[in-house]
Amino acid sequence: MALVVQKYGGTSVADIGKMENVARRVLKSKEAGNDIIVVLSAMAGETDRLIQLAHKAAEEPDEREYDALISTGEQLTVTLLSLILNRMGFRAKSLLGYQVKIVTDKSYTKARIFRIDTKRIDEELKKGTIVVVAGFQGVDKDGNITTLGRGGSDTSAVALAAAMKADVCEIYTDVDGVYTADPSICRKARRLNRISYDEMLELARAGAKVLQPRSVELAKKYEVPVYVRSSFTDEGGTLVTKEDVEMEKEVVCGVTYDRDQAKITVVRVPDRPGIAAGLFTPLAQHNIMVDMIIQNASLEGYTDLTFTVSRKEIKKAHELVEEVAREIGAARVEVDADVSKISIIGVGMISHSGVAAKMFSSLAKEGVNILMISTSEIKISCVIQAKYTELAVSALHDAFELDKG
Ligand code: ASP
Ligand code: MG
Repeated sequence: MALVVQKYGGTSVADIGKMENVARRVLKSKEAGNDIIVVLSAMAGETDRLIQLAHKAAEEPDEREYDALISTGEQLTVTLLSLILNRMGFRAKSLLGYQVKIVTDKSYTKARIFRIDTKRIDEELKKGTIVVVAGFQGVDKDGNITTLGRGGSDTSAVALAAAMKADVCEIYTDVDGVYTADPSICRKARRLNRISYDEMLELARAGAKVLQPRSVELAKKYEVPVYVRSSFTDEGGTLVTKEDVEMEKEVVCGVTYDRDQAKITVVRVPDRPGIAAGLFTPLAQHNIMVDMIIQNASLEGYTDLTFTVSRKEIKKAHELVEEVAREIGAARVEVDADVSKISIIGVGMISHSGVAAKMFSSLAKEGVNILMISTSEIKISCVIQAKYTELAVSALHDAFELDKG
């Protein structure tokens, strides 16, 4: 007998029929003798709908009310699934974040989990109850409802698995695992049987949508085995786990893209200490995440600074940067929101040379110009013009022979 956390995403609970399908899956594992904690997202599209409503009600909605509102999508699904499980003759109970006590900090819309009380869930599991927990939400120490950021129910599931010392955390979604590239744009994409935490983390950070990056960080930290599976078939699945010898043999395990990128260049910045701090501090203060940063070699006391931010934040970022640029006497600010970031990822890169060169030359062969480059131990990213995204992904997939297992 094992303790299993099963998380189902929005497409798996999109209507009552799909929820009945989820119930059957849950019961299969229950009847095999496991204790089950189910974590649910909101119905597909529901969180977006709630966000739109919030913005209709107020231009800049108060964050406390906003989180209380957008967390309600999960209240719907956990109660409905519990009702369905009850109807099928099983003991099930829904628990919202504050009822479990998933305690978070106070940063609304991107709260981080401090701790999870295990008592209530433990008691229910002992009674044989299937516990159905609302993902994406928590409560701060003053009792305010918080949310964990878009896609946050993955993080809820892994955090619960860690806190409850579950044997496995199964993430059910509409794809049957983690692929070498997004199958919807790359015909030859192949499902991976296993992937290391580090690679998964970089894939998720670099734009792969299967798992929220924060959930992978937690899984790695607490060594929670995460199994990504489809809720519509029994086939396939990808295990996210500790690195092993087999994994190191492959140089690159996947190529991914992120269209949510915009590039800002501050032209002719006086090159003196404190300039970068002056530029990036206001962005940080406004919680704008800066991704890649490049500073050109300085020429006659001047330099250019280029960096990327999320496309959604380009307007605010531009305003802030214009202001600083004026103060420090930079020549001008240029903005390009028509870019995307392509990355290749693999733990094998550490011990292989020529990976970057191969990436650059395969892009060149397709006539794709590289606008920015950044590298880490197990990732190389290039910013390119957005219109070349699909072409670049497929070219790199071919170049690194990712279709061959
Ligand atoms: N419902 C939330 C969202 O759409 C959380 C999740 O799906 O993981 O972002
Ligand atoms: Mg998701």
